[in-house]
Amino acid sequence: MTPSEESANEQSICIGCGLCCDGTVVTHLAVRDESDLGAPLRGLGVEIIAAADPPVFELPCPAVCDGVCTIHSLHRPSACEQFECKLSRAVLDGEVSPEEARSVISATLGSREQVRAGLLNEAVLQEMLTAYFRIGD
Ligand code: SF4
Ligand code: SF4
Repeated sequence: MTPSEESANEQSICIGCGLCCDGTVVTHLAVRDESDLGAPLRGLGVEIIAAADPPVFELPCPAVCDGVCTIHSLHRPSACEQFECKLSRAVLDGEVSPEEARSVISATLGSREQVRAGLLNEAVLQEMLTAYFRIGD
């Protein structure tokens, strides 16, 4: 493996994905309270839905841009730090290589675009999300 391949492998597969931030995989993320939500998200206009149990905030998150969390180096809710989809867990467990995971992410993002363009049935995208991303499905 060349040094550049090694560094590509070490880079998180989440960079450029953001499917769990933009409302594709899940629609809400849980937060403990306002301090857990944090000033960066509050500054972007995110509000807690306090009536939910546990309290949540709605996705898409305004902090995600091109699959990257723009407030990553600032405060993020604990759920963001802890969230691990099926695919990222499989990579961490050594069951799927980062290259394979990136291919799955790329195919899923492509399918989502096709669904938006009316070229693919939504059910196909949902099957991919269930197979590769949603925990507990
Ligand atoms: S946890 Fe999964 S869905 Fe979320 S950004 Fe990472 S690879 Fe994508
Ligand atoms: S704060 Fe960052 S990690 Fe959390 S949902 Fe928003 S973009 Fe994703």
